[in-house]
Amino acid sequence: MVTIIKRKNEIPKAKLAFIGGSSTFSINFPGDLHLPGIKTIDKKSFSTPFGESPEVTVFEMNGEAVLTIRMHGWRAGVKRADASRQIFWVFEQAGVRNILVEGGVGAISRDLALRDLIIPDDYIDLSLRKDVYLSDNYLLIMRDPLCPELADILIKTCKKTLPDRKVSRAVYTVTDGRHFESRAEVRMIQRLGGDVVGQSLCPEVYLAREIGACYAGIYLIVNRAEGIGPDWSHRELKDIFFQEAVTIGKVIIESLKQIKKKKRCRCSRLRKKTLLK
Ligand SMILES: [Zn+2]
Repeated sequence: MVTIIKRKNEIPKAKLAFIGGSSTFSINFPGDLHLPGIKTIDKKSFSTPFGESPEVTVFEMNGEAVLTIRMHGWRAGVKRADASRQIFWVFEQAGVRNILVEGGVGAISRDLALRDLIIPDDYIDLSLRKDVYLSDNYLLIMRDPLCPELADILIKTCKKTLPDRKVSRAVYTVTDGRHFESRAEVRMIQRLGGDVVGQSLCPEVYLAREIGACYAGIYLIVNRAEGIGPDWSHRELKDIFFQEAVTIGKVIIESLKQIKKKKRCRCSRLRKKTLLK
């Protein structure tokens, strides 16, 4: 049974967390999924050294606490770098060990179609948000940056629950946003080896490693990057945004349930004490 915290700013203990992105933004996650064994316990924000956190929903899943946040914690008037630090500071205090995320991305590889699913195995960070960390304590090794064990769970869950949907591994290229990329930028990313482009995998993946947690995500192709095939339509983007929310939400819940208490991945060992102190 999950304990409800009454004291101000006392962060509940949880081993599991989910960061929502654009694919689940249109629903109230997890309540709108109406799944058995899932109960929302609390919704609150916390004071952090990086400002007030976004609202954190605490829910109970078969007796275990899970923390979740909408749309990467991005909100008006808060820098995206600060939003990420607030979230991961809360996760660190809560003792989170496993983080699943979802988001929408643009297709760069011509093999990818709208509504295909991507489980990234690597990334190229072209964002300018470099100095985003919680402390100076660690050297972070970005070998296998997306947890192979969590990624495997996401792939298996997709194959089981969405057998007709194409699921691919991919290199996720991160840009700063908030705008999308130009045709020339997309051609550059293609040459660099990026398969999809989006704005949310970094700095989250660094912060997850910094707190010693495993991190993996599922991303929905919501448009084609500029110059890749015919121009995409805003209507299509909007339809995908609203129509896929429950599907992605259910994949997330089913995957969270499959995460084992003892894992064999080496994610937590890829964080070393800094040599610069
Ligand atoms: Zn791992």
